[in-house]
Amino acid sequence: MTFSSPDPVPPSSAVAARLGDIRRRIVAASRASGRSDDEASLTAVSKTQPPEAIDAALAAGQRVFGENRVQEAQTRWGDRRTVVEGLELRLIGPLQSNKAADAVALFDVIETLDRPKLADALAAAGLRAGKPVHVLIQVNTGAEPQKAGVLPGETGGLIDHARAAGLVVEGLMCIPPAEEAPGPHFALLRKLARRHGLTTLSMGMSGDFETAIRFGATHVRVGSSLFGERKHPETPSMD
Ligand SMILES: *Cc1c(COP(=O)(O)O)cnc(C)c1O
Repeated sequence: MTFSSPDPVPPSSAVAARLGDIRRRIVAASRASGRSDDEASLTAVSKTQPPEAIDAALAAGQRVFGENRVQEAQTRWGDRRTVVEGLELRLIGPLQSNKAADAVALFDVIETLDRPKLADALAAAGLRAGKPVHVLIQVNTGAEPQKAGVLPGETGGLIDHARAAGLVVEGLMCIPPAEEAPGPHFALLRKLARRHGLTTLSMGMSGDFETAIRFGATHVRVGSSLFGERKHPETPSMD
Protein backbone atom coordinates (compact mmCIF):
# COMPACT_ATOMS: atom_id res chain seq x y z
CA MET A 1 0.00 0.00 0.00
CA THR A 2 1.21 3.52 -0.71
CA PHE A 3 0.77 6.71 1.20
CA SER A 4 1.15 9.07 -1.74
CA SER A 5 -2.23 10.75 -1.49
CA PRO A 6 -3.15 12.45 1.73
CA ASP A 7 -6.28 10.75 2.94
CA PRO A 8 -7.79 13.11 5.44
CA VAL A 9 -10.15 11.94 8.12
CA PRO A 10 -13.66 12.89 7.10
CA PRO A 11 -14.74 15.96 9.01
CA SER A 12 -17.11 15.14 11.80
CA SER A 13 -19.97 16.66 9.84
CA ALA A 14 -19.44 13.99 7.18
CA VAL A 15 -19.71 11.19 9.72
CA ALA A 16 -22.79 12.83 11.25
CA ALA A 17 -24.40 13.18 7.82
CA ARG A 18 -23.69 9.57 6.90
CA LEU A 19 -25.00 8.41 10.25
CA GLY A 20 -28.22 10.32 9.66
CA ASP A 21 -28.52 8.81 6.20
CA ILE A 22 -28.00 5.25 7.46
CA ARG A 23 -30.51 5.74 10.25
CA ARG A 24 -33.05 6.97 7.71
CA ARG A 25 -32.39 3.97 5.50
CA ILE A 26 -32.85 1.62 8.46
CA VAL A 27 -36.20 3.21 9.28
CA ALA A 28 -37.30 3.10 5.63
CA ALA A 29 -36.33 -0.57 5.26
CA SER A 30 -38.08 -1.41 8.53
CA ARG A 31 -41.31 0.30 7.48
CA ALA A 32 -41.17 -1.28 4.03
CA SER A 33 -41.24 -4.71 5.66
CA GLY A 34 -43.87 -3.87 8.24
CA ARG A 35 -41.49 -3.65 11.16
CA SER A 36 -41.33 -0.86 13.69
CA ASP A 37 -38.71 1.86 13.39
CA ASP A 38 -36.56 0.73 16.28
CA GLU A 39 -36.54 -3.03 15.77
CA ALA A 40 -33.19 -2.99 13.96
CA SER A 41 -30.37 -1.28 15.78
CA LEU A 42 -27.21 0.06 14.20
CA THR A 43 -23.83 -1.28 15.27
CA ALA A 44 -21.21 1.19 14.03
CA VAL A 45 -18.19 -0.89 13.02
CA SER A 46 -15.28 1.24 14.16
CA LYS A 47 -12.39 -1.18 13.49
CA THR A 48 -9.31 0.56 12.06
CA GLN A 49 -10.94 4.00 12.27
CA PRO A 50 -9.03 6.98 13.64
CA PRO A 51 -10.07 8.56 16.95
CA GLU A 52 -11.58 11.58 15.19
CA ALA A 53 -14.06 9.39 13.36
CA ILE A 54 -15.08 7.62 16.57
CA ASP A 55 -15.53 10.90 18.39
CA ALA A 56 -17.61 12.26 15.53
CA ALA A 57 -19.94 9.27 15.73
CA LEU A 58 -20.17 9.62 19.51
CA ALA A 59 -20.91 13.33 19.18
CA ALA A 60 -23.70 12.47 16.74
CA GLY A 61 -25.27 10.22 19.36
CA GLN A 62 -24.12 6.77 18.23
CA ARG A 63 -23.58 4.48 21.21
CA VAL A 64 -23.33 0.93 19.86
CA PHE A 65 -20.00 0.01 18.29
CA GLY A 66 -18.52 -3.16 16.83
CA GLU A 67 -14.87 -4.13 16.86
CA ASN A 68 -13.19 -7.21 15.45
CA ARG A 69 -10.01 -7.39 17.51
CA VAL A 70 -9.71 -7.42 21.25
CA GLN A 71 -6.41 -5.63 21.54
CA GLU A 72 -7.25 -2.89 19.07
CA ALA A 73 -10.57 -2.37 20.82
CA GLN A 74 -8.85 -2.07 24.21
CA THR A 75 -6.64 0.70 22.85
CA ARG A 76 -9.55 2.50 21.26
CA TRP A 77 -12.19 2.08 23.92
CA GLY A 78 -10.38 1.50 27.21
CA ASP A 79 -10.45 5.16 28.18
CA ARG A 80 -13.60 6.18 26.30
CA ARG A 81 -15.47 3.38 28.03
CA THR A 82 -15.17 5.20 31.36
CA VAL A 83 -16.39 8.58 30.10
CA VAL A 84 -19.05 7.78 27.50
CA GLU A 85 -22.41 7.06 29.01
CA GLY A 86 -24.53 4.29 27.56
CA LEU A 87 -21.76 2.83 25.45
CA GLU A 88 -22.29 -0.71 24.14
CA LEU A 89 -19.35 -2.60 22.64
CA ARG A 90 -19.85 -5.71 20.54
CA LEU A 91 -17.09 -8.07 19.47
CA ILE A 92 -17.70 -9.10 15.86
CA GLY A 93 -14.39 -10.75 15.00
CA PRO A 94 -12.87 -14.13 15.80
CA LEU A 95 -11.78 -14.74 19.37
CA GLN A 96 -9.11 -17.04 20.72
CA SER A 97 -9.83 -18.80 23.98
CA ASN A 98 -6.78 -17.27 25.66
CA LYS A 99 -8.26 -13.80 25.07
CA ALA A 100 -11.60 -14.70 26.63
CA ALA A 101 -10.98 -12.80 29.87
CA ASP A 102 -9.95 -9.62 28.04
CA ALA A 103 -12.99 -9.90 25.80
CA VAL A 104 -15.36 -10.42 28.73
CA ALA A 105 -13.85 -7.41 30.51
CA LEU A 106 -14.31 -5.03 27.58
CA PHE A 107 -17.30 -6.18 25.55
CA ASP A 108 -20.99 -6.16 26.38
CA VAL A 109 -21.80 -8.79 23.78
CA ILE A 110 -19.56 -11.31 22.03
CA GLU A 111 -21.12 -12.08 18.65
CA THR A 112 -18.66 -14.68 17.47
CA LEU A 113 -19.00 -17.73 19.67
CA ASP A 114 -18.45 -20.69 17.35
CA ARG A 115 -17.06 -23.61 19.34
CA PRO A 116 -17.53 -25.39 22.67
CA LYS A 117 -14.01 -24.72 23.91
CA LEU A 118 -14.52 -20.98 23.53
CA ALA A 119 -17.88 -21.23 25.30
CA ASP A 120 -16.14 -22.86 28.26
CA ALA A 121 -13.39 -20.21 28.32
CA LEU A 122 -15.95 -17.40 28.21
CA ALA A 123 -18.02 -18.98 30.96
CA ALA A 124 -14.95 -19.36 33.17
CA ALA A 125 -13.94 -15.75 32.49
CA GLY A 126 -17.45 -14.57 33.34
CA LEU A 127 -17.39 -16.46 36.63
CA ARG A 128 -14.04 -14.95 37.58
CA ALA A 129 -15.19 -11.46 36.61
CA GLY A 130 -18.51 -11.92 38.36
CA LYS A 131 -20.50 -10.81 35.34
CA PRO A 132 -22.94 -12.51 33.00
CA VAL A 133 -21.53 -13.12 29.53
CA HIS A 134 -23.88 -12.28 26.65
CA VAL A 135 -23.15 -14.01 23.36
CA LEU A 136 -24.39 -14.61 19.86
CA ILE A 137 -23.50 -17.78 18.03
CA GLN A 138 -21.79 -17.14 14.71
CA VAL A 139 -23.17 -19.46 12.05
CA ASN A 140 -21.22 -20.26 8.89
CA THR A 141 -24.35 -20.24 6.75
CA GLY A 142 -22.41 -20.83 3.55
CA ALA A 143 -20.34 -23.66 5.06
CA GLU A 144 -17.23 -21.89 3.75
CA PRO A 145 -14.10 -23.77 4.80
CA GLN A 146 -12.06 -20.63 5.52
CA LYS A 147 -14.78 -18.85 7.45
CA ALA A 148 -15.42 -18.85 11.19
CA GLY A 149 -18.75 -19.97 12.54
CA VAL A 150 -20.49 -23.17 13.48
CA LEU A 151 -22.12 -25.15 10.69
CA PRO A 152 -25.90 -24.69 10.50
CA GLY A 153 -26.55 -28.31 11.49
CA GLU A 154 -24.39 -27.96 14.60
CA THR A 155 -25.95 -24.75 15.84
CA GLY A 156 -28.39 -26.42 18.21
CA GLY A 157 -25.65 -28.44 19.87
CA LEU A 158 -23.52 -25.36 20.47
CA ILE A 159 -26.48 -23.38 21.83
CA ASP A 160 -27.14 -26.18 24.31
CA HIS A 161 -23.48 -26.36 25.29
CA ALA A 162 -23.23 -22.59 25.77
CA ARG A 163 -26.38 -22.46 27.89
CA ALA A 164 -25.25 -25.37 30.02
CA ALA A 165 -21.94 -23.58 30.56
CA GLY A 166 -23.85 -20.58 31.89
CA LEU A 167 -23.62 -18.13 28.99
CA VAL A 168 -26.53 -15.89 28.06
CA VAL A 169 -27.23 -16.88 24.47
CA GLU A 170 -29.10 -13.97 22.88
CA GLY A 171 -29.14 -14.98 19.25
CA LEU A 172 -27.26 -15.68 16.06
CA MET A 173 -24.88 -13.83 13.76
CA CYS A 174 -23.71 -14.51 10.21
CA ILE A 175 -21.52 -13.15 7.42
CA PRO A 176 -22.84 -14.53 4.12
CA PRO A 177 -20.40 -15.55 1.38
CA ALA A 178 -19.19 -12.42 -0.40
CA GLU A 179 -20.06 -13.66 -3.88
CA GLU A 180 -23.59 -14.90 -3.18
CA ALA A 181 -26.93 -13.20 -2.80
CA PRO A 182 -27.29 -12.71 0.96
CA GLY A 183 -31.06 -13.21 1.21
CA PRO A 184 -31.07 -17.01 1.50
CA HIS A 185 -28.35 -16.83 4.17
CA PHE A 186 -30.33 -14.30 6.19
CA ALA A 187 -33.41 -16.50 5.82
CA LEU A 188 -31.49 -19.52 7.06
CA LEU A 189 -30.21 -17.62 10.09
CA ARG A 190 -33.72 -16.48 10.95
CA LYS A 191 -35.05 -20.03 10.61
CA LEU A 192 -32.33 -21.40 12.91
CA ALA A 193 -33.00 -18.67 15.47
CA ARG A 194 -36.72 -19.36 15.52
CA ARG A 195 -36.17 -23.08 15.84
CA HIS A 196 -34.10 -22.48 18.98
CA GLY A 197 -36.26 -19.74 20.46
CA LEU A 198 -33.74 -16.94 19.89
CA THR A 199 -34.76 -13.40 18.96
CA THR A 200 -31.52 -11.53 18.19
CA LEU A 201 -30.23 -11.64 14.62
CA SER A 202 -27.00 -9.81 13.80
CA MET A 203 -26.77 -9.70 10.02
CA GLY A 204 -26.28 -7.19 7.24
CA MET A 205 -23.32 -4.90 6.53
CA SER A 206 -22.83 -1.77 4.39
CA GLY A 207 -23.78 -3.50 1.16
CA ASP A 208 -26.81 -5.45 2.30
CA PHE A 209 -28.22 -4.14 5.57
CA GLU A 210 -31.56 -3.19 4.04
CA THR A 211 -31.97 -6.74 2.75
CA ALA A 212 -31.03 -8.06 6.18
CA ILE A 213 -33.73 -5.90 7.78
CA ARG A 214 -36.29 -7.39 5.41
CA PHE A 215 -35.24 -10.81 6.67
CA GLY A 216 -35.57 -9.83 10.31
CA ALA A 217 -32.20 -8.43 11.38
CA THR A 218 -32.25 -6.91 14.84
CA HIS A 219 -28.64 -5.66 14.59
CA VAL A 220 -26.97 -4.43 11.42
CA ARG A 221 -23.21 -3.93 11.40
CA VAL A 222 -22.17 -0.99 9.25
CA GLY A 223 -18.60 0.22 8.82
CA SER A 224 -17.51 1.67 5.49
CA SER A 225 -20.83 3.33 4.63
CA LEU A 226 -20.61 5.21 7.88
CA PHE A 227 -16.95 6.05 8.25
CA GLY A 228 -15.76 5.82 4.67
CA GLU A 229 -13.45 3.16 3.36
CA ARG A 230 -11.09 1.75 5.94
CA LYS A 231 -7.61 3.23 5.71
CA HIS A 232 -5.68 -0.01 5.71
CA PRO A 233 -6.78 -3.44 4.69
CA GLU A 234 -7.72 -5.87 7.37
CA THR A 235 -5.47 -8.77 7.90
CA PRO A 236 -7.47 -11.87 8.62
CA SER A 237 -5.39 -12.99 11.59
CA MET A 238 -6.97 -13.70 14.95
CA ASP A 239 -5.77 -11.84 17.97
C1 LIG B 1 -15.90 -5.15 9.02
C2 LIG B 1 -17.13 -5.89 9.37
C3 LIG B 1 -18.40 -5.30 9.17
C4 LIG B 1 -18.61 -3.96 8.49
O1 LIG B 1 -18.42 -4.09 7.12
P1 LIG B 1 -18.75 -2.88 6.10
O2 LIG B 1 -18.94 -3.56 4.81
O3 LIG B 1 -17.58 -1.98 6.16
O4 LIG B 1 -19.98 -2.23 6.57
C5 LIG B 1 -19.51 -6.02 9.59
N1 LIG B 1 -19.39 -7.22 10.19
C6 LIG B 1 -18.19 -7.80 10.41
C7 LIG B 1 -18.13 -9.12 11.08
C8 LIG B 1 -17.03 -7.15 10.02
O5 LIG B 1 -15.84 -7.75 10.23
